[in-house]
Amino acid sequence: MTTPAIDTVGGPTLPQERRVVTPIPGPRSQELMARKSAAVAAGVGVGSPVATVAAGGGVIVDADGNSLIDLGSGIAVTSVGNAHPAVAAAIAEQAARFTHTCFMITPYESYVAVAEALNRLTPGDHDKRTALFNTGAEAVENAVKIARKHTGRGAVVAFEHGYHGRTNLTMALTAKAMPYKSGFGPFAPEVYRAPLSYPFRDGLSGAEAAARAIATIEKQVGAENLAALIIEPIQGEGGFIVPAEGFLPALARWARENGVVFIADGVQTGFARTGAMFASEHEGIVPDLITTAKGIAGGMPLAAVTGRAEIMDAAHAGGLGGPYGGNPVACPAALAAIDAYENEGLVARANEIGAILVERLTALQVTDPRIGEVRGRGAMVAIELVDPDTQAPDAGLAAAIARHALEHGVVLLTCGTYGNVIRFLPPLAIGDELLHDGLDVVADALAAA
Ligand SMILES: *Cc1c(COP(=O)(O)O)cnc(C)c1O
Repeated sequence: MTTPAIDTVGGPTLPQERRVVTPIPGPRSQELMARKSAAVAAGVGVGSPVATVAAGGGVIVDADGNSLIDLGSGIAVTSVGNAHPAVAAAIAEQAARFTHTCFMITPYESYVAVAEALNRLTPGDHDKRTALFNTGAEAVENAVKIARKHTGRGAVVAFEHGYHGRTNLTMALTAKAMPYKSGFGPFAPEVYRAPLSYPFRDGLSGAEAAARAIATIEKQVGAENLAALIIEPIQGEGGFIVPAEGFLPALARWARENGVVFIADGVQTGFARTGAMFASEHEGIVPDLITTAKGIAGGMPLAAVTGRAEIMDAAHAGGLGGPYGGNPVACPAALAAIDAYENEGLVARANEIGAILVERLTALQVTDPRIGEVRGRGAMVAIELVDPDTQAPDAGLAAAIARHALEHGVVLLTCGTYGNVIRFLPPLAIGDELLHDGLDVVADALAAA
């Protein structure tokens, strides 16, 4: 497959337009998919089968010359914009110096600077420490290791609709069987599941839902056995479920009173995405530990656990780490991305994007009862699709909308325990005009379905 000459340099200077010049997927994309099927394990699925050659701002350009509107940011990763110039420059500059040493062998400054930045930016003004890893799942595993070492207890509670990764322990923490867990067990022991707050479906107040969860935990696990509670401030893969107000603070309070480590899994909600630097801030929650990844480094694989110094330091020297964690090329990328979040007004931009999304989607909901709910915070917004009469989840409609959108040049992601949620995670570098154009396509897709 040869790469076409057009638009092969990515970043924000790519023409910010939706341009459909072939059926999607086009012939070159189909060619790549045929090679993929013959060479790549079937378990590695593809949602939008377009062969990417460049991306930036709010678009992804494929090998056939189509320019697609990106409403997914590679699952909330390229929030600063794909190939952000400062991120790309930081990577190139560092790659020419050294690409690896292993921080545990000979350390380097950028790792420490990322730790300092996370200690400064994450909620709470207590003394903090950070450890860096490669992926969100690895950060979650290490947060649990640290909490167990600190408390001397074994049990961990996760929540309904939770998603925490695909490694063995994080599959145990993740709620949904298909596609994440089915056939891949047995799973790690001492993981328990508590009921969530899901206002659209349970109708409970935050206090009621928290009382229900705490009763389950006390009866079925016992606080004295519990090392940690882990929860996403907004469930990501589970369907962008925003818990009722008061639910998270009540859980955090209960954890504190019972010596249980409260872990906020901020992997999807972190870094300006929800209109705050971290989603726990919306209800003033100060987690003991917070995991981050996805948006942290403009697309480079990097993850972190940040938290109270006395908990983080419970792990003995040599107990945490590995050759790649805090890679020297990923760390400068993170510093450039964090600088962009802080100094390019991206928290405010997430709120502006969120306002457009909510206004447009709510207007659609008024005339279309298949949209059961519009919800989210900042630029993390979703619609839950239902049967208008029974409110039963309609996964087929979500899939049909995503398919129609792709064919018309919009990359759209679905999610949800029931597969009936369309999620909007545009890069924060997207312009208003492009966002509106993408939402026009979504409106057409709803009308056509
Ligand atoms: C994506 C995700 C993870 C796992 O991160 P990976 O980098 O895919 O391992 C963990 N927690 C949450 C909330 C996520 O959204």
